[in-house]
Amino acid sequence: MGQSTTIPRPHFDLLRPDVRAGLAGALDLPAAQQPSWPDKSVLRAASAELAEALPVVTPPEIDTLTSRLADVATGSAFLLQGGDWAETFDGNTETHLRRNIQTMLRMSAVLGYHGGIPVVHLGRIAGQDAKPRSGDTVALGPPSYRGDAVNAFEPTSDGRVPNPDRMVRAHANACVTMNMLRAVVGTSSMRGAHQGYEEFLASARAGGRYNAMAAEVDRGLAFMNAFGGFSGDLARAPEFFAGHEALLLDYEAALVRAGESGRAYGTSGHFLWIGERTRHLDGAHIAFAEHLSNPIGVKLGPTTSPEQALDYVERLDPRHEPGRLTLIARMGNGRVREALPPIVERVVASGHKVVWQCDPMHGNTQNSGSGHKIRHFDRIVDEVQGFFEVHRKLGTHPGGVHLELTGDDVTECLGGAQQISEADLTRRYETACDPRLNAQQSVQLAFLIAEMLRS
Ligand code: PEP
Ligand code: MN
Repeated sequence: MGQSTTIPRPHFDLLRPDVRAGLAGALDLPAAQQPSWPDKSVLRAASAELAEALPVVTPPEIDTLTSRLADVATGSAFLLQGGDWAETFDGNTETHLRRNIQTMLRMSAVLGYHGGIPVVHLGRIAGQDAKPRSGDTVALGPPSYRGDAVNAFEPTSDGRVPNPDRMVRAHANACVTMNMLRAVVGTSSMRGAHQGYEEFLASARAGGRYNAMAAEVDRGLAFMNAFGGFSGDLARAPEFFAGHEALLLDYEAALVRAGESGRAYGTSGHFLWIGERTRHLDGAHIAFAEHLSNPIGVKLGPTTSPEQALDYVERLDPRHEPGRLTLIARMGNGRVREALPPIVERVVASGHKVVWQCDPMHGNTQNSGSGHKIRHFDRIVDEVQGFFEVHRKLGTHPGGVHLELTGDDVTECLGGAQQISEADLTRRYETACDPRLNAQQSVQLAFLIAEMLRS
């Protein structure tokens, strides 16, 4: 790190001098979770290629997301973020992409109708392919898999050697994913989105509870149809933004571009978040994010102190801009009710208006007897419930959720209406690491969150 990671010319020269200095300083700080690239000349060549490459997203789109998130921060919209644990080169297919997007739009129809609140759609997509790991090597085995942007999943010593050319392929994948995302979303409407949950209702053993809610959505849509059909917002294609963990600084730095008045934008994605393992206040990731104009997220695990939370807010939202900062609580269902309130109180007292988002996945991971990583649907629901309870009690807005999900019918999380059990895990366990909600569990969770939004 440090020496090789720089903001590429000519973009660097177009940045405002203070931003330029800030970013350069940030990239000299120690950075956690970076690959040990074996050959620096290959890294330099890959960085140079990315420096000339097209941005995945543009600064005006990034600003649009900031303004949508400002609505979330001030209580008038809900943020639905979701997608795979990691994107993979093999999994980058139209079918997979369409299913994930459709699942999120179905969830959105339920949340928007029952929650009575506009939904901001944000994928873990088009760049979510570098991963933090708890160790550098698998016990007595090869180096850890760090995502397709870094090394190969196949557990061979050769394949696990970090290869900078993978970043170039990851960028190309992100661009084609973004292209397909725009096409899929561009031909969708919220009218079409609600239709897909019929399958869920038909097979759900949970019975009438969801049927009644679904019937209401249908009546609402029929009512609108009766008065001249769909026009305005419902006929318009929904907006859908892309986000990922800004982990791999060689990749992120190479895709910094100058926007208007010399501001710096990370054009690898609209929304960039800093993960639980890289949020060190004296490290490169937070300092890097500080000088970007993107909306930024920070994951907050159960050991986060209110003082630390305040430090993030002061560093990352110095201009008090609602929408700039999203604090993503991933506490675990057993911790959220005690760990979150002092953080929310401290931040609210500072006057900053952040987006409060709940990630009910990462604090609820367990190992199954069979060696799979699992998450139980009930614990996921309970963490979201706890998050809502905290915000209802404090009078703050439970702004959104951050989920690992897929539209594929996988068996990775236990429970839900299909009552997936440990015996089902071997049937379709397809994630390379963390378990995702499947299509039906995702829609079921949306119904449950809609009830929480209404209560
Ligand atoms: C993730 O979101 O994929 C992740 C690694 O989460 P966290 O940083 O919260 O552990
Ligand atoms: Mn302040």
